[in-house]
Parts: sequence; structure tokens; C-alpha cells
Amino acid sequence: MEKCHDVIIVGAGLSGLSAAHFLHKLSPGLDVILLEKDSRPGGAVMSFKEEGFQGEWGPHGFLDNTPESQEILRDTNLYDQCQQAPLGDFYRYVCHHGKLERLPQSLKTVLTTPLVPFSGKIRTLADLWKKPKAEDQSIGDWVAYRFGPHLLPLVDAAVTGSFAGDYTKLSIDAVMPGVRRLEKEAGSVLRGLLQKKKKGASDKKKMRLPSMLNFPEGMEKLIDTLAVKCNIQLSTQVNNIDREDGNWSLVTDKGKVVGKSLLLALPVNSSLKLLAHLKEPPVSEIPVSKIINVVMGFTDKAKIPYGFGYLSPERERRFTLGAMFTSHMFPDRAPKGHVLIEALVGGRRHPERLELSDKELADNIYDDLCQLIELPERPMFTKVLRPNHGIPQLEMGHHKLQEWRRTMQEELSGLYLSGFGWDGIGMNDMIKSAKKAAEALLSGARTIQEEAKVKPVYF
Ligand SMILES: Cc1cc2nc3c(=O)[nH]c(=O)nc-3n(C[C@H](O)[C@H](O)[C@H](O)COP(=O)(O)OP(=O)(O)OC[C@H]3O[C@@H](n4cnc5c(N)ncnc54)[C@H](O)[C@@H]3O)c2cc1C
Repeated sequence: MEKCHDVIIVGAGLSGLSAAHFLHKLSPGLDVILLEKDSRPGGAVMSFKEEGFQGEWGPHGFLDNTPESQEILRDTNLYDQCQQAPLGDFYRYVCHHGKLERLPQSLKTVLTTPLVPFSGKIRTLADLWKKPKAEDQSIGDWVAYRFGPHLLPLVDAAVTGSFAGDYTKLSIDAVMPGVRRLEKEAGSVLRGLLQKKKKGASDKKKMRLPSMLNFPEGMEKLIDTLAVKCNIQLSTQVNNIDREDGNWSLVTDKGKVVGKSLLLALPVNSSLKLLAHLKEPPVSEIPVSKIINVVMGFTDKAKIPYGFGYLSPERERRFTLGAMFTSHMFPDRAPKGHVLIEALVGGRRHPERLELSDKELADNIYDDLCQLIELPERPMFTKVLRPNHGIPQLEMGHHKLQEWRRTMQEELSGLYLSGFGWDGIGMNDMIKSAKKAAEALLSGARTIQEEAKVKPVYF
């Protein structure tokens, strides 16, 4: 007879590790096992370091504005070790008519930015009179209807920087449910925001711009710290899931594993593959956007503008989606006298570029960057990172999949689903949803529901 674990978590990425952390914290004696197909935990989170240049294969930072992430950092004593890059102190740029322009971060700069023409700024006020549409819309259609088409290049840049996605396909209901709720309740987004501001006028703390966080060792530090306390069985792929005598029975390539509760902390498509035989999902998979990160080290003759980096909307027709000025964001990312840029290519709109050779990528990116930044010398260090992990796209129709997940959790006792692409794609989304799953699992709640909130900063 196999041992019956209290909880089996499939996937030891950030979602699975965070869920294990919260389960242990809330119920210290619980027997939790994590099954991970790779030979390392962390999934998409993986840091890179070579010849003194330090970058990331996956996430480059997360904002310090989510209570569940703050809680994990406090619990693990990582808060003090975090490197912080405050959004308020750094510029972010958008490529606009072939030049880098600062993204406005205050009301004054919103009014004066050349990124949106005067007529476009006036048009945004029409939101106050636009009746909310009940049905889901693409982010692009929704923004154009409420605020006018002039904002679309900015939205494109934001969506590129987060989803590497296509705003004509991503669903506003799935990506920004809190904003949609606000719009419907107040009758307009601006009106809703004004009402919220009035209510919280005295709360100055909430109004500060958050900081981007990373660690001196890179983002893997968070994974390594969480993994130390977990019972993880690595190199163990789960191939089949079934119910057996009221428990969950998993077939892995290392044998059978049995548990009372099962949490799939997996990207949406991996969960769909494992669960489709129990109840057919509305789609067999969702689109995933892959990117390549080209890590480029320059001598400090490179005149990289002060700030986090830039993003390029599609209408600019550039090769590079955008680039992070990594050595500006966090200290010690490049050897002394050098700077580091990480340039992103591909995404939902240009999967064909993922097929290019390392040399073609590096040459095209250098040519592209030279038109925007003063780079008198070619990079003295180049490394092309091709992450296996892609970014799930919450496109139109995603709500049907969320509904399917809700029904699965209600009908199949002891089953919980969290992970990459269900409710969001960012690290904060993963940690938040892991905590909710852990709480539901321990209380035996069959639905995990929360009122959608407006995030103060989305991208
Ligand atoms: C290129 C890229 C850049 C990103 N940049 C940012 C950023 O800057 N900021 C930010 O907040 N977020 C960013 N993200 C998102 C962030 O990485 C994710 O939110 C997070 O890593 C997802 O964690 P997860 O555990 O849900 O999924 P994953 O990281 O995918 O982990 C799932 C784990 O499950 C395992 N697994 C899958 N199937 C099975 C199976 N059948 N059996 C056993 N194990 C299995 C996988 O091997 C993997 O380890 C980025 C993502 C990518 C890909």
C-alpha cells in the first residue's frame, strides 16, 4: 500500500512552493509532498550569471504592492535582503516615432507627455459618459471605446511588457477584472477612480508608487529559500490523475503517489492536459507567448538612459519588443566599468523571430538599439537565453475556462487549481492565488472566490 499524503502539490514552480509555504505556516504538521518533473525547482524563475553579468531567464522583478508577497518575504526573512528599484525614482520609456519618450508617472507628466496628442487627452474624458458594455471585449477594443484610440500604443507597450501579448486578443475581463468591476459599478472608470480617491484621500501610504524587487543572487534566491523547507520529489513527471477510494491517485514516471487533497500548481495548459479526461474543458489549450532574452554587456561608453528600460508598440515596427536596462535597475548586474541590457524578442506577434540564429538575433538587436541609444561599441558580452517557459495568454473566452475550473473544484472533492495563467501571470498573482488555494484546502471550502480589486499599478 502506498502512503497517503495529506496534500500532493504538482509543480514546484513559484506557485507550488508558495502554496507549500502557506500550508506549512497555517498547519505545521501537514504532510505535503511536491512532485516536480524537472531536475530543479523554480519553473520559469531562473537566474543567469556569466563573466560577472547577471540577468534572468524568466521574471526580472516583482512589485512590492501585494500583501501575500510581502508576507512570504517577511516569513522567510528575505525582505531585508531584497534589492529595491522604486518606480517613482526610475523612468520607463516608450518608443515613439523612433525615439525613446518617458512614460508619464504623475498627473503633470500625463498632461504634458508627447506620447498622446492634446485631442487624445481630451478624448479620454469621454469615459465619463460611455455606458459600460456588459460583454467581454479585447483590451484594445475596450480602451478604444472608453478612452479613444490615441492611448492604444501605450496600452500595446504595457501589454508587451507584461504578457508579450497582443492587445487585440487579450480579454479585458480576464486581465483587469477589478477595473471592469469598477467601471460597471461606477458607470465609468474615471468616475470610479475619483470615488475611490475621495474615500482614501487621507491614506497617503497607498498612493506611493511601488518598488520592483529582486535579490543580489537573482530571483532564484526566492525559490531556493522556499524550496529548502519543502519535501520535493524532483525529476518526477505526473502523467495521469484519478480518484481512488476517495483519495487522489497519481501515476508518475517514478510510480504511484496517493493523497487526500491535490493541488495542481501548474501552467493552465499542463493542468488541462492532466484533467481533460475527468471533465472536458471548453478548450484543449490556450495560446502561450514565448520570448527570447538576449543579454548584452557593454563597456560604460554605452550611454544608456537613466531608467528601467523601454518598450516598443507594434506600430513602431521594430525588431526588439523592448529592453531592460538591468544594471541601472539593480546593483552589481555587470562587472565594474560595464553596463548590462537585456533585450526581448518574439512574443505573441512575432513567433517567427524565435527561429533566428543567435547571431541573427544579436545583429538585429544591436542595429535596432543603436537607433535609440548611443552605443559606440558592439557588446563585449552576448548571451542568447531561450526560455522553455512561455507566458499563458488570457485571451477572449478565458472566462469559460475559469468557469470550468470553478466547476471542477466544486465537483471534485479535494481538488484545487492555481498556477500560471489561471487568474493572472505575474509573480504576485501566483503567490496570492497560492495563499487562497492553501486556505481553501485547509478549510475544505469548495470555491475560491474573491472580489476582483483594482491594482494601483498593473505593469
Ligand atoms: C520569460 C518570462 C518572463 C517573466 N517575467 C516576469 C516578471 O518580470 N515579473 C513577474 O512578476 N512575472 C514574470 N513572469 C511570470 C512568472 O515567471 C510566473 O508568474 C511564475 O514563474 C509562474 O509560476 P508557476 O509555478 O505558476 O508556473 P511554472 O513556473 O511554470 O512552474 C510550474 C512547474 O510545474 C512543473 N510541471 C509541469 N507539468 C508537470 C507535470 N506533469 N508533473 C510534474 N511537474 C510538472 C514544471 O516543470 C514547473 O517547474 C515571467 C514569465 C516568463 C516565462
